[in-house]
Formats: sequence, C-alpha cells, structure tokens
Amino acid sequence: MLHFAVAGSPLSTPLPGGTLEGLQRAKELGIDAMEIEWVQQVPSGTERMKEIREMARELDMALTVHAPYYVNLNSPEKPKLEASKQRILKALSQAELAGAVSVCVHAAFNLKLPPAKVYDNVRRSVAEIMEQKEKLFPHVNLALETMGKPSQFGTLEEALKISKEFGIYPCVDFAHIHARFQGKFNSTEEWNALLDQYEAALGRGSLKTMHIHYSGIAYGSSGERKHLPFSESDAQWKDFLSVLKKRKVGGVLVCESPIQEEDTLLLKKMYDQL
Ligand SMILES: [Zn+2]
Repeated sequence: MLHFAVAGSPLSTPLPGGTLEGLQRAKELGIDAMEIEWVQQVPSGTERMKEIREMARELDMALTVHAPYYVNLNSPEKPKLEASKQRILKALSQAELAGAVSVCVHAAFNLKLPPAKVYDNVRRSVAEIMEQKEKLFPHVNLALETMGKPSQFGTLEEALKISKEFGIYPCVDFAHIHARFQGKFNSTEEWNALLDQYEAALGRGSLKTMHIHYSGIAYGSSGERKHLPFSESDAQWKDFLSVLKKRKVGGVLVCESPIQEEDTLLLKKMYDQL
C-alpha cells in the first residue's frame, strides 16, 4: 500500500497550528499520512511525542519525519560533525517515540572532496549512529535522501550503496534526481530504470516499503533551485504515478509541493483513479 503524505501540517490547518492539529486537518481532507518537518530543530520531551503517536494511531495515519537541515556528515570541523550526528540521533529517537516509520536526512555536502572520500566520511558517521539503533530507534528507518545538487552527497547510487551496507533504505526524492541531472529522469522508462536499480540493490520486496519524496521542481546548471507546484513544473506526474501503481510500490510518498495538501490530494486522487 502506498500512502500519500503531506509535508508538514496542511496550510489550511486552523491557527495556531501544530502537529496534532495538522494530523486532524489532513485526515479531514482525506490524506492518510504526514511527514513531520523537524527541519529547524527536533522538539524535546516525551509527552508531546506520545500525543502524536496516539493521535496518528487514532486517525490511522502513517508518519515519517524530516530531520534538521543543519547536518553535514562530511564536515572537517569536529564540533559541527558531532552536532550533526546528535541532531540525527535526536530525530530518530523522537521519531521512535512518535511512532514514525522513517526519518530522512540530508547527509552531507561534498566540499569539493572526491566522492569516495565523502562516502567514507558519511559511512563512518552512519556506522556510529547505527550503533545506537537497538537502544534508541529500533523501529525507525534511517533514510539518507537523494539530493538535488551535485555539491551534495546523495546520488541514488550512493544512497543505495550505503543503505545496503547498513540494512536500511534511502529516501528517494525523484524531484531531486530530476533536478540534479537537469531534466532527466522524467519518463516512464527512466523511472522504471531507477526502480530496477533500487530493487537490484536492496532486494526483492524492497519496493513495498519505500520512503519517497516527489513534487515539481525548478532547476539550473547547479541542480535544484526550488520546489514547485505540479501545475508550474515540467513534472510528468501522471506518468510517474502509473509507474508506481504498475510496480506496486508501497510505503510513504511525501508530496513536497509548496501548495502542500492541494498537490498531495491531486496525486492521491489521480493514483486512486488509475
Ligand atoms: Zn529533504
């Protein structure tokens, strides 16, 4: 089963908003999943997490989390590297309490280092984070995201290689891949090739529990510029949905459109009609 998630509380959530209110509003709209956007910081405390878990269970909503943006597992500065690992660990452990299934992370900037060196650096930090899995986040997946700029760590190859190594699965952001390669990966044939690559790396059945990001996107020579509503973009989103449906891809697809619930529902309704 594929859940269509709104990225954060819907824009139409009554003020003052918040995750609990956002979950209720999403459900009212007919949306059955949400990615909680802890992109500035991860909230502390356990009580709120329990409330989110209970609300999501009551409403039968699937949850994922977006970890903070201020992360660079390739930082040469020790304090920055440590802070990055701690932010990821906090997102994972709070996600465990909140009942989320997967946490996506923008792992690193390449800082003009050779890709193999960056991979090594990211790998070392991921190994340290994964040492805490049993204790802090036994039911949560650490999803390294495919990134939209060549200056960032996170081609599909890199994300799959590291995921395979640690028994996790990546967050495949199809808009980022499209932007990173300046317009490629926007057709049935190309998406099928990416999914084949994914399945070859992570095994049979791996397409059943994916963490996907998708939206329209603006891009230039250095890749991603900004996310766009589908109607203002070149995204062949109907074809994309057909591929997902045909391949019986499951898990959570987070719609990262700036018009949030509007585009999430556009995707969900079209998918249901196919
Ligand atoms: Zn992201």
